[in-house]
Amino acid sequence: METKRVVVLGAGFAGLHAVRALSGKPGVEVVLVDRNNHHLFQPLLYQVATAGLEAPQIAFPIRAFLRRRNNVRFLMGNAEGVEPRERVLWVEGQPVPYDYLVVGTGSRTHDFGLPGVAEYGLGLKSLDDAMKIRDRILSACEEAVRTSDPERRRALLTFVVAGGGPTGVELAGALGELRRHVIARDYPDLSPKEVRIVLIEAAPHLLSAFSPGSRAYAQGFLQSLGVELYLNERVVELTPGLVRLHSGRSIPSFTVIWSAGITGQALPGLPTTRGQRVATAPGLHLPDHPSIYVVGDLNYLEGPGGRPYPQVAPTAMQQGALAAKNILRSLRGEPPVAFRYKDKGSMATLGRSQAIAEMGPLKLRGSLAWGAWLAVHLYYLIGFRNRMMVLSNWAYSYFTYDFAVRIMHHRHVFPTPREAPIC
Ligand SMILES: Cc1cc2nc3c(=O)[nH]c(=O)nc-3n(C[C@H](O)[C@H](O)[C@H](O)COP(=O)(O)OP(=O)(O)OC[C@H]3O[C@@H](n4cnc5c(N)ncnc54)[C@H](O)[C@@H]3O)c2cc1C
Repeated sequence: METKRVVVLGAGFAGLHAVRALSGKPGVEVVLVDRNNHHLFQPLLYQVATAGLEAPQIAFPIRAFLRRRNNVRFLMGNAEGVEPRERVLWVEGQPVPYDYLVVGTGSRTHDFGLPGVAEYGLGLKSLDDAMKIRDRILSACEEAVRTSDPERRRALLTFVVAGGGPTGVELAGALGELRRHVIARDYPDLSPKEVRIVLIEAAPHLLSAFSPGSRAYAQGFLQSLGVELYLNERVVELTPGLVRLHSGRSIPSFTVIWSAGITGQALPGLPTTRGQRVATAPGLHLPDHPSIYVVGDLNYLEGPGGRPYPQVAPTAMQQGALAAKNILRSLRGEPPVAFRYKDKGSMATLGRSQAIAEMGPLKLRGSLAWGAWLAVHLYYLIGFRNRMMVLSNWAYSYFTYDFAVRIMHHRHVFPTPREAPIC
């Protein structure tokens, strides 16, 4: 049988599941392309951002993943575009020909075109983003100790999270714990009462994907942690040191974490639809180019209720595996199988021993949900060493009420208005 080349673009959840399903299959050689040399476990990024975990603990080297997968090669590089007619993917000026292409380039932070968000907001999609947030939080605390200007101190110690979905809620909860257990002990010159954590959400409630009971529980817990909730409220502009809101109010803050939306990260040459995602046929291939499959966050396919499938890890894993299966079917001359989403439920951690989890009719809250959350995240994290390191960090934090990795990599220097002396 003639060997066909499958190029998989993106070593995220979708891409790796496609590679897993194609590895060792006769008649197929696979080239995995990614601009990073690691797979990133994004669901734990917020813990890197809030000093709970170290960056390498949630990343796994792609070449280690490919060991013993003899029909798979790795090409590190930034893909710049696709030429569907020629069946070529361009990677840093180099053509990479393919028989089948699986595109799983994921999504990126969406600023909705709001002034100042791209410049002054902090997205959370990569290890760099997470480290920037951690550096910003720790730098703000250090500078607050030095400044004699009360207004500047207030802005330095106000941490704003925009977007009340699972990521925003997890971040706000972790910041609340950081204030209660770490800032209170590490910074005798700061009072935890001075530290504000504000969570802004445009809807009248947090966590739209959860049931009203779970939402109310999460909301109550965050409030008990001292997180200020601004519901029915929207950011309209960010300037250095100030968040302007739709209601006319404003919040002085130098640290605004933007988790209010994402948009597809498509490549030139691929047609896009709503949310910069790429619409596919139910078999996950492009209607006009059946040799191109689009999977994960980038894929736009409507489910039975007419709503697109959620941009979450289980969708990506299931779509990656199905794209691989359909490629193997195509090689045998069989028609593609349509995507059917197996809903694994939703969970979000709120803080120490606190989470919410919903799996079909089963709704867990509190420490039971937190246990389930820990188990699921450890299970899906790639690499034995990573699992051990993450588990030991969690155990350390649990028993010592401490956050293990409060190391600043680069000190952030905050803009200083000429009229406000910093010390
Ligand atoms: C902070 C955060 C928390 C989350 N929490 C959860 C959660 O708790 N549960 C859950 O189910 N989901 C969660 N998600 C969503 C989940 O991580 C995504 O749905 C999932 O990662 C999508 O997988 P993917 O393979 O489509 O894309 P990704 O995992 O984003 O992978 C895309 C890959 O493509 C590569 N790439 C992109 N463009 C190029 C290019 N031009 N050239 C070369 N390589 C490229 C990237 O380097 C990356 O490796 C979270 C996401 C974030 C950001």
